[in-house]
Amino acid sequence: MKTRIALIAHDKKKDDMIALATEYRDFLATCSLVATGTTGGRLVNEVGLQVERKHSGPFGGDLQIGSLLVEGMIDCVIFLRDPMTPQPHEPDINALVRACDVHNTPCATNMASAHLVLSQLQLRAQP
Ligand code: PGA
Repeated sequence: MKTRIALIAHDKKKDDMIALATEYRDFLATCSLVATGTTGGRLVNEVGLQVERKHSGPFGGDLQIGSLLVEGMIDCVIFLRDPMTPQPHEPDINALVRACDVHNTPCATNMASAHLVLSQLQLRAQP
């Protein structure tokens, strides 16, 4: 079965997400990807990945991804949060990260942990 990965990046972290996805492009192309709206659009247009796009984060995208996660449809979340900028949907962000903790789902919230998680998943996926 394909590894199911959720990808979310706050505005100031979107360039980092594109760089990350470009680096892991070949692996990510073998995965089933879901993303919040704007992040997903950039992944499609700039990295050429196939991505199921949900609403933008401030419009409920984090909650949609959280719901998928609770239903057991997500194996890992890459959530590049911006810790320096207040977000209008802070409660939704906390709900998603909490859902990851409740369901023991890997959740990388910065580039260093995202590299560790993706490199390990990539290794495991090798035949
Ligand atoms: P976006 O949502 O990918 O639609 O920008 C992410 C967020 O801001 O939570």
